[in-house]
Amino acid sequence: MRLPNSIAKALAAPTLFPVSVQLTILGSGSSGNCAYLEADDTRLLIDAGLSGRQIRQRLLTIGRAPESLNGILITHEHTDHIQGLTALAARLNLPVYCNRLTQEAIAAQLQTRLDFRLFSTGASFEVGAVTVDTFSLPHDACDPVGFLLHTSAGRIGFLTDLGHATKLVIERVRAANVLVLETNHDVKLLQDDTRRPWSIKQRILSRHGHLSNEAAALAAEQIVSAELRHLYLAHLSADCNRPELAQRVVSQSLAQIGATHVRIETAAPDVPGAPLWLAQPGLARLC
Ligand SMILES: [Zn+2]
Ligand SMILES: [Zn+2]
Repeated sequence: MRLPNSIAKALAAPTLFPVSVQLTILGSGSSGNCAYLEADDTRLLIDAGLSGRQIRQRLLTIGRAPESLNGILITHEHTDHIQGLTALAARLNLPVYCNRLTQEAIAAQLQTRLDFRLFSTGASFEVGAVTVDTFSLPHDACDPVGFLLHTSAGRIGFLTDLGHATKLVIERVRAANVLVLETNHDVKLLQDDTRRPWSIKQRILSRHGHLSNEAAALAAEQIVSAELRHLYLAHLSADCNRPELAQRVVSQSLAQIGATHVRIETAAPDVPGAPLWLAQPGLARLC
């Protein structure tokens, strides 16, 4: 398979720099979310919201296979975060890390036996070389969480599916070097959308729905530190947002407060992004 130039270039990085932590957004949008993290000898998925076949194909573009995964971290039970679980976790017997309410909701939906490893929301735990901090997010699921993943080469925050950014959320991801942040919709495009009933629009706009571009920009302003190097804009609605719109709103916001050191990238729903390699402390940082 011929790799896109950006991916081929990024894959070549380990031969030039001795780095051992990489993050690849395999896909992100309202239709499905899945990211791959490789930290030293630990290989994880964060959510499995694409089909099992798609996850396998997209891992293949970076030379990886689901069989080598050590586990899957799940933020919450909505379909766009778990639809690949049966094909991957059940078939390959991979550990699935989530809290109890999410486990119950997944079990009711999928009716398949999975190797669940439960954590309490707010607790931290380890999976191989990765320490996972968990924290509660305001979203209309049973017990949705965000993550801050500590690796030997930096900290990666996951903040998708939240209606508003609470003080707690901001504090928990402030240490991130890389942040995956939801920019779900443009408020005007959502209001003008003729395909969605009013009740769904209300749900999306509510304090337990999804972040608009403006709300995400405000959250990014509060989170940004000198340590934040890379910001992924994620979970864009296909109908009610545009990548260039999300990018413009967040870039302008960060530029206004002088945070021009952050590289901003919009995650795509249908193709994997280029792997982001994080340097170990003391080595040149790529991200
Ligand atoms: Zn979602
Ligand atoms: Zn959700």
